[in-house]
Amino acid sequence: RRKPLIAGNWKMYKTKDDALAFIYAVNVEVPDKDVVESVICAPAIFLKDLVKREGENLRIGAQNMHYAEEGAYTGEISAAMLKSYGVDYVIVGHSERRAYFNETDETVNLKLISAVNVDITPIVCVGESLEIREAGTTNQVVKKQIEKAYLNVSAQDALKTVVAYEPIWAIGTGVTATPEQANETIIAIRSVIKKLYNEEVSEQIRILYGGSVNTKNVDSLLSMSDIDGALVGGASLDPNSFLTLVRAAL
Ligand code: 13P
Repeated sequence: RRKPLIAGNWKMYKTKDDALAFIYAVNVEVPDKDVVESVICAPAIFLKDLVKREGENLRIGAQNMHYAEEGAYTGEISAAMLKSYGVDYVIVGHSERRAYFNETDETVNLKLISAVNVDITPIVCVGESLEIREAGTTNQVVKKQIEKAYLNVSAQDALKTVVAYEPIWAIGTGVTATPEQANETIIAIRSVIKKLYNEEVSEQIRILYGGSVNTKNVDSLLSMSDIDGALVGGASLDPNSFLTLVRAAL
């Protein structure tokens, strides 16, 4: 019922030739987009070239954007600029941006709204630190992040977004949340969304898991009731590995 989505987050890896070689390698192999959505979220400087070369079934996303429509924000890129180049997705509120670039729940909210306004799908990241996980307050922390991200967002617009649950302790560490742990938190996120909106939104919105997803653990994660796909860092950099991940969602 919910279409799976596999999104690669390249972070700050690759140079132009590697990026183009990746696209050429995966383009014709990517499964039908009506069955699984396959997305590569690339560094901004690659976006134009990648969109130009994306095949029938691959989509390109950005890793960040500014929330303002336009303005004197040196070095920044707006949602409308991304849209004008054919970018279809944008990661919003990744924990690395929260940790290193002053991203807050408030800017996440504004970015989500700006992206939806120009018809770009925001992939809205939430997730707890190891400290929070160990203190047993994961659900409360993630609840707050969701409530703040979706402030002043209508049910109709919420349905145009995707949530990514990425526990910080599982990112780039090789330590994955167990499929049960990930599913449990994602179920908790759905119940927050149900309270904010209604059952329809909570049942239809897609929620991905992210954090050390790889070709070995992807099947067990995707087999869980509430996990609709994955947001993948390291394992999305290699074309064959990325293809294995998207095929796992078939
Ligand atoms: P890894 O898959 O490398 O752990 O990164 C996860 C992530 O942060 C995706 O956004």
